[in-house]
Order: sequence, then C-alpha cells, then structure tokens
Amino acid sequence: MTTNPFTEEHELLRQSIKKFVEKEIIPHVEDWEKKGICSKEVFKKMGALGFFGVSFPAAYGGSGMDFWAAIVVAQEFANANVGGLTMSLFAHAYLPLPLLVALGTEEQKNDYLIPAIKGDKIAALAITEPGAGSDVGGLKTNAKDMGDHYVLNGSKMFITNGTIADFIVVVAKTGEGLDISLFLVDTKSEGFSAIAINNKLGMHSSDTAQLFFEDCKVPKSALIGEKSNGFYYIMNNFQQERLLAAVTSTFMAEWALERAKQYTLEREAFGRAIAKFQVIRHKLAEMAVIVEACRSISYRAVAEYIEKGNKAETIITMAKVFTSEEALKVINDALQLHGGVGYTEDYGIARVYRDARLLPIGAGTTQIMYEILGKMIIDDASHTDKLK
Ligand SMILES: Cc1cc2nc3c(=O)[nH]c(=O)nc-3n(C[C@H](O)[C@H](O)[C@H](O)COP(=O)(O)OP(=O)(O)OC[C@H]3O[C@@H](n4cnc5c(N)ncnc54)[C@H](O)[C@@H]3O)c2cc1C
Repeated sequence: MTTNPFTEEHELLRQSIKKFVEKEIIPHVEDWEKKGICSKEVFKKMGALGFFGVSFPAAYGGSGMDFWAAIVVAQEFANANVGGLTMSLFAHAYLPLPLLVALGTEEQKNDYLIPAIKGDKIAALAITEPGAGSDVGGLKTNAKDMGDHYVLNGSKMFITNGTIADFIVVVAKTGEGLDISLFLVDTKSEGFSAIAINNKLGMHSSDTAQLFFEDCKVPKSALIGEKSNGFYYIMNNFQQERLLAAVTSTFMAEWALERAKQYTLEREAFGRAIAKFQVIRHKLAEMAVIVEACRSISYRAVAEYIEKGNKAETIITMAKVFTSEEALKVINDALQLHGGVGYTEDYGIARVYRDARLLPIGAGTTQIMYEILGKMIIDDASHTDKLK
C-alpha cells in the first residue's frame, strides 16, 4: 500500500479519540494496572461518545464508517500503553457484536447489540474451554434442546470481560462432531457464574474469567443464527479479531520503538548519548524496518478485508502471525535498550513487554496460524495465487 488510507473523517475521529485517551485514560492507567481494575465506567463513556460504533451500521447506533475507523481507535489507545483495558474494550466491540450484526434477530439487536454499542451493556465471546482452545471442535460445553428452551452445561476459560459482561455469546455443542451453535446468554441467567482469573502475566487492566454453566436455562430465542452452523460462524468471525490483533501488534511495537529512540537519545554512557553508538543506531534502524514491515502487511490486510471481507483470510492470517511474532522482537529489543530501568515499571516498557506476550497466543496461536497457512499454501495453492 502506497497511499495513506486515512481520510479527513478518520482524522477528525482521531482528534476526538486522542482527547478522550489523554483525559479519561492516561491519568488512570498506573492505578488500574496496579490494582487490576477493568473500569466499567470507560465502557459507558466510550459508548456515549460513539467510539464503539465507529465502523458499525448506523441502523444500530454506529457511525457507518469503514474498518479504518476501528484502526484509528486502536492506534490512539496504543499511545496510552494500556494493552489490558484496550483488549477488554475491543473484545467487547469486535468479538461478539459482529456476530449479532450478521446473524442476530431483531429482538437480539434491540435488547443487546444496540445497548452494547451505546456502552450500556458489556459483551464477551466465549469459545475457549479448560480442555479445548486451539481445537474449537473439541469443546465440551453443550446445549440441550428441551423443547421450549435450551439448557447449557460446561465451562469456559480465559474469557475477556467474563465477570463484567451483561451478556455473552457462548459457543456450545448441539450434537456430535462439529455440530456447534451460538447462544446469547444473559449473565443474569440462573446457572451461570464467573470467577476472575487474577494471576495473568500481563493485561492487568483487563477482566479475564472462567465461566460456569450449570443447568443454565436459556430461552429458544437465545440461539444466534442457524442451529449447528456455529463452527462456520466462529471461523469467519476470527478474521476481524485477527486483523485487530495484527494492527495492535504493529502499534505496540511502534510505541516501544519510539520509547527506545527517546531513551537512547537521552541516556548517556561513556561520555555520549547511547544512540550515538553505531550498534544502537543499527538496532533502532532494524526495529524501524520491522515496524514498517508490520504496518505494511497489516494495513494491506485491512484494505483487502474492506474489499473482500472474510475472503481476505490468507493475508489476514499472514499479518496476524508475522506482526505478533515480530512485535515481540521489537519490544524485547526496546526493553534491552533501556538497560536496568527497562526491567522496572518506571518507563512503561515492562508493561508492553508483558502485555505483548499474549499476541502470539490470543485469537489463534502462531502454530495454528501456520497450520491454516500450510493448508492454504500447500493443499490449496489457489489461495496464494489470489494474493498476487
Ligand atoms: C488473557 C487472555 C484472554 C483471552 N480471551 C479470550 C476470549 O475472550 N474468548 C475466548 O474464547 N478465548 C480467549 N482466550 C483464549 C485464547 O484464545 C486461547 O488461550 C488460545 O486460543 C490457545 O488455546 P489454549 O490456551 O487452549 O492452548 P492449546 O490449544 O492447548 O495450545 C497449547 C499449545 O499447543 C499448540 N498447538 C495446539 N494445537 C496444535 C497443532 N494442531 N499443531 C501445532 N501446535 C498446536 C498451541 O499453539 C500452543 O502453543 C484468552 C486467553 C488469554 C490468555
């Protein structure tokens, strides 16, 4: 991509997000991170200002802009170096809600989608289980059709927003093998409970939970889309999540690079700024090349997604695996260039180092991305032809 994808409308949005992040987010980051708080207030404020709805249709309270608008929001949040809260906000808006836009009934849209875009209700998407993560087909949570309602039993693991959500899109078995369906579970439902997972390496200002469904009764109207089609819906829905993971990786690496540049220009050793040592200048140059490569592949993936939707799967998968792994290298080098202070909480570099470690795990691990690409490239060469 050679041209700047951001229009005047995107830049206006950027100005208002920037102000919001400076006023409502940055002053609280240290406190939220230290105490492990995922602020529900921020959801309300984000919704009230229309920031969840930037790329959602106007019919549901969104502003109907293209997906670059979501990228603008992600970029401005990256400047606050608060990966945890950002993950919670994005897991709310971009994991469960697109499923409701595409498949929800009028009732589901009115009662859940629209309030969620407004920030009045918090949402989550529950796929992973204690016994099945990468292997989505191996999940055990099941939903039994009881005639006039469904009963859910099972457990979900590592669910972002799990303890603060008002509703959760739950992926459950409705038969054998890949007979999987999606259910909109109101967290007030009897038989539902959640406990917070508080011993995470990073992402401290996000809410992560284990969920339990014990004879959890949900109405027939809780089914999202068609019964037994859930596996296909979820695989499609991963594309937007992986795209966001790719741009987020890029922005986190860029943030760390900027900090490293700043620090090495200020820090002196052996009578000069350390940025004057050739080995450090070359390292910064190498990091800058990687960040640009991450931006190129992730922006190309966004452009193709806007053009082709989920048919852009090959480039999205490539962007996800490349940027998440490369960002770790850049962030690791940025920490190294900070010396001992990089290992403390004083410069924020330790936080981005911790938070970024999730990038090659969440939204499909690196190994799974290569597995998908292996199938596309080796078993079905037409996928790679489509990239050219
Ligand atoms: C902070 C956090 C937030 C999360 N938020 C959510 C959420 O909101 N909703 C949700 O549903 N999930 C969420 N997850 C779960 C996340 O998506 C999974 O952890 C991830 O998909 C990996 O699954 P797993 O942990 O079960 O690992 P496993 O699938 O058990 O994998 C373990 C290792 O084996 C490798 N592996 C597995 N299969 C293969 C294979 N076929 N070939 C080669 N290697 C393989 C994996 O790559 C990995 O290295 C979250 C996780 C974390 C840590």
